[in-house]
Amino acid sequence: MDSPDQGDTNGNTSIPKRIERRIKPLVDSIAVSLNVSMILFFYFFDVFYVMPQFLGIFGQAVHFVVSTWLTYNILGNLRACTKTSNTVDTLPPEMLKPAEGEDSLWHFCDLCQRTVPPRSWHCKTCSTCILKRDHHCNFVGNCVGHNNQRYFMWFSFYAMIGSVLAFCDNLLYAHKHGIEFFDIFTMHLVLIVEFMHPGTHDLLAHFIIISILTMNIFAIIFPGALFLSQIVVIRNNSVMHSTSDRTYSLGIWENFAQVLGVRGFWTCLSPSIKSPLSHNGIQWKSKNTA
Ligand SMILES: [Zn+2]
Ligand SMILES: [Zn+2]
Repeated sequence: MDSPDQGDTNGNTSIPKRIERRIKPLVDSIAVSLNVSMILFFYFFDVFYVMPQFLGIFGQAVHFVVSTWLTYNILGNLRACTKTSNTVDTLPPEMLKPAEGEDSLWHFCDLCQRTVPPRSWHCKTCSTCILKRDHHCNFVGNCVGHNNQRYFMWFSFYAMIGSVLAFCDNLLYAHKHGIEFFDIFTMHLVLIVEFMHPGTHDLLAHFIIISILTMNIFAIIFPGALFLSQIVVIRNNSVMHSTSDRTYSLGIWENFAQVLGVRGFWTCLSPSIKSPLSHNGIQWKSKNTA
């Protein structure tokens, strides 16, 4: 079974609640701003500055179309994930109480002071209970849950793919300036050589390029790890704090359909594709009840 304190990375601290309530949304705003800034930086830097140095008009056009489509899916899914609410309050009033015979499946939230549906848990950052709460992600500024997990999955997928493309572009740019991949790990040697023989390297250019490559590596690893964890979680119909729990698993395809909606994997094409979910996030079949 889920536990009430699942997936809350913020935990209990000694910070007064009044200050905590102000800090948490601020952390979300800073993280989302950093996220969007990094995506836009890589897009404009690689499409309009780096690749024109290596490609002809046709190559640039292809690179522009591919990069723009990837960036549209990254930002579009990010926006949809941020804007789509998962709170228990999104349910119509008549659904805010258990159906006949389902009282035992609902539980009481001490913080909201009310009974909430199965698989809903309280988020201290959002200050409310979230339908099938997976986790709170600062980088999308929202809880990932029943209504927006599709967007989060595709956001992390496209962020990983877009970052791999940007990394290829940036490696070309680095190579042109005499910097190779493994130079990322030997920056300290460059500093020593420069100290002993001043003027050997263009230290500023070296530092900027190494910083871009390093940032780019994190931009692959972080969303890549999130995407893989989402695949496992969705495949098992579980949540992030209990990844291997298969209590609600109805088979791989049905589990993915519950997150992606009626259009299934076609939702990869665009966040604007309408794909209604098969249920409201209250009544969960389990292996035992299906
Ligand atoms: Zn609550
Ligand atoms: Zn939250």
